[in-house]
Amino acid sequence: MMEQKNSLDIKSLTLDELQNRLVELGEKAFRAKQIYQWMHEKLAFDYDEMSNLSKELREKLQSHEELIKLNIVQVQESAIDGTRKYLFELPDGNVVESVWMKYHHGNSVCISSQVGCRMGCRFCASTLDGLERNLLPSEMLEQIYSIIRHTGERVSNIVIMGTGEPMDNYDNFLRFIHLISNDKGQNISQRNITVSTCGIVPNMKRLAEEKLQITLALSLHATTDEKRRKLMPIANKYSLEEVLEACKYYFDKTGRRITFEYSLVAGVNDTKEDAQELVNLIKGMNCHVNLIPVNPIKERDYKQSNKEQIQQFKVRIEKSGISATVRREMGRDIDGACGQLRRKHISNQL
Ligand code: SAH
Repeated sequence: MMEQKNSLDIKSLTLDELQNRLVELGEKAFRAKQIYQWMHEKLAFDYDEMSNLSKELREKLQSHEELIKLNIVQVQESAIDGTRKYLFELPDGNVVESVWMKYHHGNSVCISSQVGCRMGCRFCASTLDGLERNLLPSEMLEQIYSIIRHTGERVSNIVIMGTGEPMDNYDNFLRFIHLISNDKGQNISQRNITVSTCGIVPNMKRLAEEKLQITLALSLHATTDEKRRKLMPIANKYSLEEVLEACKYYFDKTGRRITFEYSLVAGVNDTKEDAQELVNLIKGMNCHVNLIPVNPIKERDYKQSNKEQIQQFKVRIEKSGISATVRREMGRDIDGACGQLRRKHISNQL
């Protein structure tokens, strides 16, 4: 947790670290509480808003401590279900996408964890240009904070399923989880946070040892190593056996049910044999299966399975006693698959 302390911006610090930073600046430690509250609870956009700090202190902070914030470049709103896609500009000019979804049980935000991605999953638009850089904890937080400011509504659920591989940006990701769930900030329950990984085994185990209450979702997508390697290069590094063992370890340590994500691709992994193999693979685990009809990207010729096939796949899994859902397609009328809004923006600039 403490490794990167000195290079971190003020909004990425824990309250204890913020106290130390203020003392280093020659200020009283108790100011940290006020500043923390302005940044993480009241969601101040500028130091100027921090009205219980003296003008001198605000100016000092302004010149010593960059307050990370994002600019909204674009907002697309679905006419069907109100889902909004946000394109944000980071301080260095890079852009990231986030999604805001309204559900009966509250508002949910899907955030990015990296600028681009180096995992290379074949069907995914976010990885086509590789990894640009990791996001800071503050840059993950600000995707949510900006959306709360913009919508004026509370957020109760968070999914880290946007662009990037969170287990490839582990320290910043973990810090983000502590900050977003801190009761002196947004206080979002860890039980309402889901992190999705392509299966970086050592970091899944590290995460298990943190004993958090967040849900771990594994991108499974195939039932044999051979098939999985064709879709996901990471499968060359870690076998299905190792990945599933890490999932069991996570459950053993945290008691949290595992979610398996399975993107259905026509003719690739959607037959009844595939469904049976999936059942055989995960039977006996405390888990849930989330079926995702593949969202076709123009760079690849993967196609969505038809509705009936998807339904049959779901029923086969449920018949074995494992719970399954088909991910609702939110915002069908706004820029499709994850990562496409960002790519479109970048290519328009060239
Ligand atoms: N890096 C994380 C988060 C990725 S996005 C991970 O790999 O899990 C969240 C989910 O969407 C993953 O399961 C990912 O494999 C899946 N996904 C990405 N692009 C997709 C597409 N075009 N169609 C369907 N699912 C997709």
